[in-house]
Amino acid sequence: MFSYRHAFHAGNHADVLKHTTLIAVLRHLTEKPAALTVLDTHAGAGLYRLDGDYAETSGEAADGFLRLTQIPAKEAASPLLAGGLAPALQDYLDLVAEFNAKGSRRVYPGSPFIIHRLLRERDKLKLFELHPTDAKTLSANIAQLDAGRQIAVLMEDGFEGIKKFLPPPARRALVLSDPSYEIKSDYARVPAMAADSLKRFATGTYAVWYPLIPRPEAHDIPRKLKTLAVKAGKSWLNATLTVKSSKVTTDAAGDTKRPGLPASGMFIINPPHTLKAALQAALPQMALLLAQDRHAGFTLDAGG
Ligand code: SAM
Repeated sequence: MFSYRHAFHAGNHADVLKHTTLIAVLRHLTEKPAALTVLDTHAGAGLYRLDGDYAETSGEAADGFLRLTQIPAKEAASPLLAGGLAPALQDYLDLVAEFNAKGSRRVYPGSPFIIHRLLRERDKLKLFELHPTDAKTLSANIAQLDAGRQIAVLMEDGFEGIKKFLPPPARRALVLSDPSYEIKSDYARVPAMAADSLKRFATGTYAVWYPLIPRPEAHDIPRKLKTLAVKAGKSWLNATLTVKSSKVTTDAAGDTKRPGLPASGMFIINPPHTLKAALQAALPQMALLLAQDRHAGFTLDAGG
């Protein structure tokens, strides 16, 4: 069984990139009146406490989401922030704030709650979570929403499980795929799932989060997804955010220090036409505010 628990990582820099992008995508997709189906292949527990044991152990939100809520004077004076926060980044902060009492930052919503907050009554949300503990917590968290048949929690493999929902009834869908990549096969399963999904439903929007770490499989993901999109004649967008160097170092005592997650990316097939401009404004600010060393930066590529 997996040992990855998203509670350790909730609100980290990868969540900032992933959730800012997710919100920007959903804002656009919910503008059209027709019902939308959202499939979250790797849902996690749904809601996280930033003052809980898990989050406090790793403190990753302190170097992620929380940095955006307390901007130091030096960064605030940067020309990149002269016009205030980019609308997509502000939208992300405002949405997280809705889960907290005024001024408090105790709760961090995972993708299921972020998605639900943006859906209309006619839209549907299917959540896949394979880990029994997280699936149970997710079900309990979702039950509090009283959303009835609008939301389904499935303790199933998300890569396989989405097949039965594609194509969706109103022929509008967003698939978010956010594996923990704990199992090496995830790296191959992500592009395989995207290829299969595009065959089932070519006009869906497919959003994939991937880690950028020094192993070839990780770099294969955006390469394979781009090839897939180009061959299928679909538009695509790839955004990456780096917060620090990926170099393994040795300290004075001779102990090896691994950097943790230095960077990650979001690859979207059939992105909304508004997404590139939204991220173009938000990414430089994310890189500035979340930088842990001089290697911080971002990339934004799109095609099709
Ligand atoms: N998407 C969530 C968010 O943004 O809040 C975080 C998800 S976390 C990175 C990945 C989750 O996928 C973990 O909770 C893990 O237990 C679950 N998981 C791993 N393999 C899975 C699979 N094949 N199908 C469904 N869930 C899986």
